[in-house]
Amino acid sequence: MILINNDTIVKDDDPVVRTKSSPVALPLSSEDEELLRSMYQYVSDSTDEEKARENNLRPAVGISAIQLGIPRQLTAVIVREYDKNDEPVTYEYMLANPRIISRSEQPAYLEGGEGCLSVAADHPGHVVRSARIKVKGYDLLTRKEVTIRARGYLAIVLQHEIDHFSGVLFYDRIDRSDPEKEIPGALVI
Ligand SMILES: [Zn+2]
Repeated sequence: MILINNDTIVKDDDPVVRTKSSPVALPLSSEDEELLRSMYQYVSDSTDEEKARENNLRPAVGISAIQLGIPRQLTAVIVREYDKNDEPVTYEYMLANPRIISRSEQPAYLEGGEGCLSVAADHPGHVVRSARIKVKGYDLLTRKEVTIRARGYLAIVLQHEIDHFSGVLFYDRIDRSDPEKEIPGALVI
């Protein structure tokens, strides 16, 4: 496993985090598999209070390889939500080369704004994204090519992570002149 903690994660004062990531070869090399599994383990452990404290982990729902200084299109995501029937549901992926193949007209944003393992400072404001997206990629967790139909929070998390492949950080999408400006028709989460 690769050591990932708050000290080894690349921050936004380092231009590396702005580097564009390249697609990886499939089937995944053992090196890419190990990297992706370590990223998944980080996200999983980061929401365990004790493990997070002991190992200097910052709670996260996703991480992309460029945040470890590795410009490859790999991301791990674990999102816990409630479904229509109020049942807890976990969406988890270890994705290689995920790409957004379609998106809704309807925008969406998180009411409390977004955060990022690579960003220490607070950047309040609406990060406007799509309310629903369709993503295609290879998922190491299920060892399959997957098509993910995501809405709401999961859709936002996937867009945030896929943005990292282009070197884009969430606050790039905040309107600096009016960070809290009304977004007509937006799904607010
Ligand atoms: Zn991020």
